[in-house]
Amino acid sequence: MKVTSVSAVYPNYEHTVPSWRTHLWQIVVRIETDTGQVGWGYGGGGKAAVEVVNGHFAEILVGKPLNSLEDISAVWDFLYTESIPYGRKGIAIMALSGVDLALYDAIAKAENKPVARLLSDSIQPRIRCYATGPDTEYYAELGFTAQKIPHRWTGEESIDQAVDVAEKARNALGSDAEVMFDVYMSWDSEITLKMHKSLKHVGIHWFEDILTPDDLEELGELRPKIAPVNMAGGEHEFSSHGFADIARSGAYDIWQPDITWCGGITAGLRITDMAQETGASVVPHRGGEPWGLHLIAASTCDDFAELLPGVRGSAKDDLWIGVPEPVEGYIQTGDAPGFGVSPNPDLL
Ligand SMILES: [Mg+2]
Repeated sequence: MKVTSVSAVYPNYEHTVPSWRTHLWQIVVRIETDTGQVGWGYGGGGKAAVEVVNGHFAEILVGKPLNSLEDISAVWDFLYTESIPYGRKGIAIMALSGVDLALYDAIAKAENKPVARLLSDSIQPRIRCYATGPDTEYYAELGFTAQKIPHRWTGEESIDQAVDVAEKARNALGSDAEVMFDVYMSWDSEITLKMHKSLKHVGIHWFEDILTPDDLEELGELRPKIAPVNMAGGEHEFSSHGFADIARSGAYDIWQPDITWCGGITAGLRITDMAQETGASVVPHRGGEPWGLHLIAASTCDDFAELLPGVRGSAKDDLWIGVPEPVEGYIQTGDAPGFGVSPNPDLL
């Protein structure tokens, strides 16, 4: 089949997603082929990325063949190269992610298979989830056995606060639970060593986003000093070209590409291969959402998927219909073709 149309839209969100930022700026991409097959993708970059898709990618994609994963990989390289003057990272690659995922959705639906089955014959049947957010009691009730605590450094009082919430998580979720911290680039090396010492008795699985993605060298020097506690990061990095810098620096034990931002499944596979060669683990950012989940189920990523359940009673938009829900802290990709989801027309 051949691509006949490509378009992107910024949904009419009513609620903001609980996040570090005011909004995740996620976009929806739709592709259609000459056989009438429709594929849906999810990207980042907001209205600027919508403009990249509709104003540039759509025009140059029409007529491209779409019959194999090699065809998708070729489209990825083509769009990456065409967008180099303004792209390589950020919004252009967030837009490319949406296109890549829509192409994967279309080809998997044409073959009547889930995307995970397109990638591998051996699928992880159920994947352990972790909840990111502050509401430990709520996550324990939902059956989660792992929590990532959002934490921002505000001064020395942050140490006692961090110890308090970490102990609370350890007590509520159990001795086998995984407890992590995401500090959203608010620490420095000195703070990290202090926190590492103060939290040692709790047993932390990883510290995430300690410094900015521009501080890879310093991160690489810090990492052995807190081993065996892991350092995680990569949600702000793009494509295998960007992750090659992470590999060279040794900044992270755990790489966290966001599949809807870093360049889709195509980039996710390339990054995962590179991580294997480097000896790093991959735990995709928001990996419990369908796009990361299909990659985790079918690849060498850790069997560990991030979900953002919000806090008890929080309202959220149901943008995607058919999204798998966790049961007792585990999630499955399901048997539906493609990514198994379609956008809620009320929000488009
Ligand atoms: Mg994070």
